[in-house]
Amino acid sequence: MRTKLSLVCKKLCQLLECRVPLIKSFDALLEEEFDVEMRPALERIRRRLMQGTMLWEVLPSDPSVNSPLMEAMLRSCENDARLIEGLRIVANGLDDGTIPLGNTDQGTVETAVNPEDISRERLIQIMQDAHNRKASDIHLIPTEKETGIWLRIDGRLTLSSSVSPKEYGYLVHQAKMLARLDISRNLFPQDGRIKHKISGDNLEMRISFLPTVTGEKITIRILDPGKITLDPSVIFQRDQELQAFDRILSQPFGLILFTGPTGSGKTTTVYSALKHLADKGGCCICTVEDPVEYVLEGVSHVPLKIKQGFGYTNAIQAVLRNDPDILYVSEIRDRETLDLSLKVAVTGHLVLTSLHTLNPLESIQRLLDLGSTEPHMVASALSSIVSQRLVRKVCKECSEEVEALDSTISEFDLDSSCLVKKANGCPSCNQTGYRGRKAVYDFLEASKELKDAIRQNNQVLIASLVSHSMTVQMKDSFRLMLEKQETTPEEVQRLQSS
Ligand SMILES: [Zn+2]
Repeated sequence: MRTKLSLVCKKLCQLLECRVPLIKSFDALLEEEFDVEMRPALERIRRRLMQGTMLWEVLPSDPSVNSPLMEAMLRSCENDARLIEGLRIVANGLDDGTIPLGNTDQGTVETAVNPEDISRERLIQIMQDAHNRKASDIHLIPTEKETGIWLRIDGRLTLSSSVSPKEYGYLVHQAKMLARLDISRNLFPQDGRIKHKISGDNLEMRISFLPTVTGEKITIRILDPGKITLDPSVIFQRDQELQAFDRILSQPFGLILFTGPTGSGKTTTVYSALKHLADKGGCCICTVEDPVEYVLEGVSHVPLKIKQGFGYTNAIQAVLRNDPDILYVSEIRDRETLDLSLKVAVTGHLVLTSLHTLNPLESIQRLLDLGSTEPHMVASALSSIVSQRLVRKVCKECSEEVEALDSTISEFDLDSSCLVKKANGCPSCNQTGYRGRKAVYDFLEASKELKDAIRQNNQVLIASLVSHSMTVQMKDSFRLMLEKQETTPEEVQRLQSS
């Protein structure tokens, strides 16, 4: 303990000498690999500093150390604004034993019963449970009576457990501490990141705090860089999809849109495309992202800082000055970003982006709506559209075979004697009848005729030509999945109607 505390004091000295502010210095200390013993103490000190407490009041009394000599030393120096000198004296004093450690037993007892430590453990337990159950998100939704802990598994929210309002208060506090956010700010939304090792995996989590009338709602998105599969031969189930993917990425320039509703897995497909391009080598790949989700080798990821004025247009312009061949713009929400992206795409660059649209036709309409005065730019730039959805796979343990309805047979052109699966529900699928998901795709490769129709902004002609430009159709994947009894007609109909 003595050596560790001396090390903390020395590191703090170095940071303060580099003019890093005190609380920021503690942030930096927490980034270091401190063992379990020191970490909760450092977090407690940081929190009390944020509440306005002086360092001399918290440091000697916290890491299970309460030495009057150390306190006196820091007090005299901090009052004279000679904190660095004080820390150095304490560090040396701890090293040579002239500053004694205090009553460590007292500290240990305090740690053991500290509700904050218990709630930190609880929070990590929640994350661990979510990770083990392969959840993509954790939602902590407060109501007046209790807070429900919900897990998003296979795209659906399932209630996992609940905590009392008092316990939840501590959880919110700990979650903010873990994400290095302002613990005193609870009237405004806050976003942060947590990195934590869970079950041997280095997890990255994005955490959002949203004030509601019943308290702050927490949403945690679990990103697992180790587990994400970016291999196209694993992502795509059908040869046609793989070939189309290869083809669209071989184009030297133009705009490629990756579309689908939220949670349809399009980020994975985009990253797989970027990795595929990076692996080929020979080109400069830059991204403009809000936020950067994964970091790929051979790709320069540029995060936006919208609050500080570094938005999409500024970032794209900055990237263009860096001689890129391929640019990924994580989202196009306004006309300015669209106009700029189109210009980049027609001037010899390959531009990848994503849109929250349901199908290729809607995507073209969205582009025209956003930049309606320049349909010729959309026509010249558009190269291809990849639209995707995630289909839930029926649970093998509890599903049963049934005869397909006549309407299903005719809709999907199935064999008249075809047997399909019916979902039931059992403990292994959380009573939902489904387990796991699989992506299905539409690939549109813009033909000359389609580009002409876009140039004329002829909506009727565009609609009729879109299906001719589709080189891979989702409908075929639905039929295959039904034939192979991987999903149910009900699931396919649900996707088609939403
Ligand atoms: Zn089941």
